[in-house]
Amino acid sequence: MSWSWEAAALAPASAAGFLAWAARGRSASVFAPSLWRGAPGRRAIALTFDDGPSEYTPRLLDVLARHNVPATFFLCGRNVLRLPQTARLLRDAGHEIANHSHSHPRLWLRSPGFILNELTAAQRAIEDVCGLSPRWFRAPYGVRWFGLAEAQRRLGLTGVMWTAIARDWTLAAPAIAHRLLRAASDGAILCLHDGRGLAPEPDISATVQAVDRLLPALLDRGFHFETITPILCPTTSHNA
Ligand SMILES: [Zn+2]
Repeated sequence: MSWSWEAAALAPASAAGFLAWAARGRSASVFAPSLWRGAPGRRAIALTFDDGPSEYTPRLLDVLARHNVPATFFLCGRNVLRLPQTARLLRDAGHEIANHSHSHPRLWLRSPGFILNELTAAQRAIEDVCGLSPRWFRAPYGVRWFGLAEAQRRLGLTGVMWTAIARDWTLAAPAIAHRLLRAASDGAILCLHDGRGLAPEPDISATVQAVDRLLPALLDRGFHFETITPILCPTTSHNA
């Protein structure tokens, strides 16, 4: 293709667009391998909660227990160190625990060393407090960057994005439930929040109320709930 002023003028915009998609697109694996939905053909849904544990998490656990539904919690290392008993409560209730970085930074423009330290510190905090090593990582704000692939590889982590995100940090409970009901499909990974980054005592009442509405509706539609490991590796978990 020959050079033209027109092409030169468009190039920066499309390069920036590509970079934004690579960093934040739910199906992008440019910076690091990442999964965003389970296998089709199985009536399974994975509920995932980011940014915990928080002071509010036990109320969410009550709702999940009432409906007998397992979920996956992407925890921040600093929150685990702040609320170790709540982190162990999650583990003891049979939910899956995953890594959501140590201090919830945007990884955009950060050095590979910074990214590795963030993932490692969270992994160590969860290992020390819960006695298990997560195998799944979700980037804060969904932002991936150079160096993340190597950090994930060194820690044995695989990236997980989402099929649908609840926007539960801004919407009211009926809107959250409606949005997720519309997005429900075989193998869907739904992203909600039981915290707000590292903020202490976050109000996640809208999320808790939305989950209480959502679960019976999804069960009525014939879905069952799985954590991330069985929804992404159904064969492995059946053999286990
Ligand atoms: Zn987050």
